[in-house]
Amino acid sequence: ATPTALLVGTGRGAQLGILIKGPEVLESTRAVDTIVLDKTGTVTTGAMTLHDVITADGVATDDVLRLAGALEHASEHPIARAIAAAAAEQTGPLPAVESFTSVNGKGVHGVIDGRAVLVGRESLLADWSLRLEGALAIAKTAAEQTGKTAVAVAWDGRVRAVLVVADTIKSTSAQAIAQFTALGLTPILLTGDNQAAADHVAAQVGITEVIAEVLPQDKLTVIADLQQRGKTVAMVGDGVNDAAALAQADLGLAMGTGTDVAIEAADITLVRGDLRSAADAIRLARKTLGTIK
Ligand code: ADP
Ligand code: MG
Repeated sequence: ATPTALLVGTGRGAQLGILIKGPEVLESTRAVDTIVLDKTGTVTTGAMTLHDVITADGVATDDVLRLAGALEHASEHPIARAIAAAAAEQTGPLPAVESFTSVNGKGVHGVIDGRAVLVGRESLLADWSLRLEGALAIAKTAAEQTGKTAVAVAWDGRVRAVLVVADTIKSTSAQAIAQFTALGLTPILLTGDNQAAADHVAAQVGITEVIAEVLPQDKLTVIADLQQRGKTVAMVGDGVNDAAALAQADLGLAMGTGTDVAIEAADITLVRGDLRSAADAIRLARKTLGTIK
């Protein structure tokens, strides 16, 4: 294509809410055959809410919300926002946190009122030699089978509760995925979240390939493995967690509604945070450059 055609293509993209970093990006956009989609914030809205609190025997819901809420107040994770917001609303002002540590892809822990508190997934519990048992384990499995995410709350060496959070699938996601398939792309859902929740979301939007329970630092490896197998890979994401994978992909697309880190790492920004814009971008590249090499 001539420089003029590339410039026109890039300009047309801007009109469609597709910000393309440079004219050379159109070439990788055209060549893509696989599209990897982050779940939370990309396929789903990323705005989580607290659905349920299941407590161990003798544990008060208020105490769980107060301690978990105070700890999560210091985290920017969508799960943390849901828990902190519900706690502030249901229990009033949250206690001060004396120390705070965030464990990427696992959860958070810290000290509140002299108590060692942790909120996170089972692998975080395991790091503290704790595990979910009985009614709490059952509650977790039940929540995950309906696409929700369950995190555990523990303090002073005992698991005290399970918190169930969930967000909603964007109304445009299923349509976008149908468009990817029509364009001949293979969509793959990639997430740090549990397998059952990921499978549930995938089924709702028409994705058959799911790679779940992937630690943030391993998202990049998943992309590299696909490339090793000869795929030309686009990755769509929104989080800090997605930045390395966005940079590794042949084409990185960031949700305009996402974090600055993701936007900086990507080749294209989908201004409206609408997944259908990714299909528009591929159509635009094919039209601008022609579909035949
Ligand atoms: P995703 O790829 O869906 O954005 P993350 O890698 O950010 O997922 O997190 C993976 C999992 O780690 C979450 O589903 C949750 O179980 C746990 N987790 C991460 N951060 C937190 C937090 N602040 N509070 C509780 N759990 C968390
Ligand atoms: Mg995300």
